[in-house]
Amino acid sequence: MVASTSLSEQHAVVIGGSMAGLLAARVLLNHFGRVTVLERDRIPDQPSPRSGVPQAHHVHILLTQGQRILEQLFPGLEAELAAAGAPQVNWTKDLSWLSMWGWSQAVPSDLCTRPCSRALLEWLIYQRLAQEANLTFLPSTRVTGLVANAQKTVITGVQIKTNQGTETLSADLVVDASGRNSTLSKWLNQLGYESPPQTEINSFLGYSSRWYQIPDHWQAPWKVMLIQTKPPDHPRGVVMYPVEGNCWIVTLVGVGHDYPPTHETDFLPFAQTVRSHEVYDAIHQAQPLSDIYSYRRTENCWQHYEALPRLPEHLVAVGDAVCAFNPIYGQGMTVAALGALTLDQCLDQTAGKFPLQGFTPIFHQQLAQMLVVPWLMATSEDLRWPSTVGPTPNWQTRLMHQYLDRVVQASLDRSYIYRTFWEVIHMVKPPKALFHPQILLPALRLG
Ligand SMILES: Cc1cc2nc3c(=O)[nH]c(=O)nc-3n(C[C@H](O)[C@H](O)[C@H](O)COP(=O)(O)OP(=O)(O)OC[C@H]3O[C@@H](n4cnc5c(N)ncnc54)[C@H](O)[C@@H]3O)c2cc1C
Repeated sequence: MVASTSLSEQHAVVIGGSMAGLLAARVLLNHFGRVTVLERDRIPDQPSPRSGVPQAHHVHILLTQGQRILEQLFPGLEAELAAAGAPQVNWTKDLSWLSMWGWSQAVPSDLCTRPCSRALLEWLIYQRLAQEANLTFLPSTRVTGLVANAQKTVITGVQIKTNQGTETLSADLVVDASGRNSTLSKWLNQLGYESPPQTEINSFLGYSSRWYQIPDHWQAPWKVMLIQTKPPDHPRGVVMYPVEGNCWIVTLVGVGHDYPPTHETDFLPFAQTVRSHEVYDAIHQAQPLSDIYSYRRTENCWQHYEALPRLPEHLVAVGDAVCAFNPIYGQGMTVAALGALTLDQCLDQTAGKFPLQGFTPIFHQQLAQMLVVPWLMATSEDLRWPSTVGPTPNWQTRLMHQYLDRVVQASLDRSYIYRTFWEVIHMVKPPKALFHPQILLPALRLG
């Protein structure tokens, strides 16, 4: 029997200093005496992309729910984004959206965020955490494995590799936030545990992105342009919005292996092949500020740690290391924020006592419950494409597609439906809000 001590005397270690790792570190500080974040990259002196987060070159929308949680965790963050030049966007008023059923309307709502580069957002959060006396950030530090007790039932630390060599770092809780390419499953195998079952749904969507200077005197009735793909015949789309520094970020997408170009000469021609020409008209004479960046690892992938019969104590995983989404739905950072709140709530339930017996399965069960809705939202849309590899859509999925099609159609000239639809997309309302009688009846009446 191990004597119980206080959590506030213990040390938590986070693997990965990207969004999920930083947000986990923030809530761990509410409970642990010391928190250490281990990041294999160097930390830039100013906002700039780094090799461990290649997605930073692409559109990165923080949903309204995500922005609200970040503001709760880091009060004043939105003001810092504004001061750094991130423009304000109202997602129902400033967005011009060519949906599968036609153009959207402009409707006022409180769905406001400040689009910015992914690098700026991460850097501002890092700066806030750097002020925390109980947090240590170890850059250029790669975690190479887990350390466990003799019985291999409790994780007691991690093996790390730095420029100085290899060593062991002791920890009372290890949080894996190392992203989509996490090797946690392999490390667990080395300790004699099974890999988690995995669900993968892949629509083979690719991104190509480029940054542009917004021309002087640019004027348009919209700030964000979203030309959606339309299954099964129109696999190409585009997203464009303003960020700090008076820039546009433009991402071309193609589904079902119809990958957008990786070469400069093909970027504008591809932009002309989406379902409408607004983005092409805006950028064809604008000054490009970057190369073309491409990205193709966009499969939805859920590692079901919650389904494992056995896991060592004092170890959890968060963020993309557990569940990575097709990024086109803009959910990853918001889900990472919701995961951090789940971690915080689970740690609250320990009443500050250590060791954390039974904590690992409880946390993974609660995390899995939270993941169900965003997972269904992303994967059911991907399953509209016949080329998607994953389970064949069942009758519930097909029924949901038909109902959502009617909701979107009905929303195009009904403010309440339009606003509610985007509140669900921005995760401030649950999907059941789309079954409110004010939505259900007009949607069902459509021919
Ligand atoms: C192309 C693209 C576009 C996206 N667009 C959006 C969007 O619009 N909105 C949105 O909310 N989300 C978006 N996402 C998802 C979002 O980037 C992630 O969900 C979010 O960053 C959370 O990821 P993470 O912190 O779990 O992992 P990651 O961001 O992948 O970070 C993992 C970190 O761990 C570090 N690391 C890895 N292995 C080790 C190790 N062994 N030792 C130490 N450090 C290690 C890496 O260097 C990195 O810093 C997008 C993703 C992609 C790929």
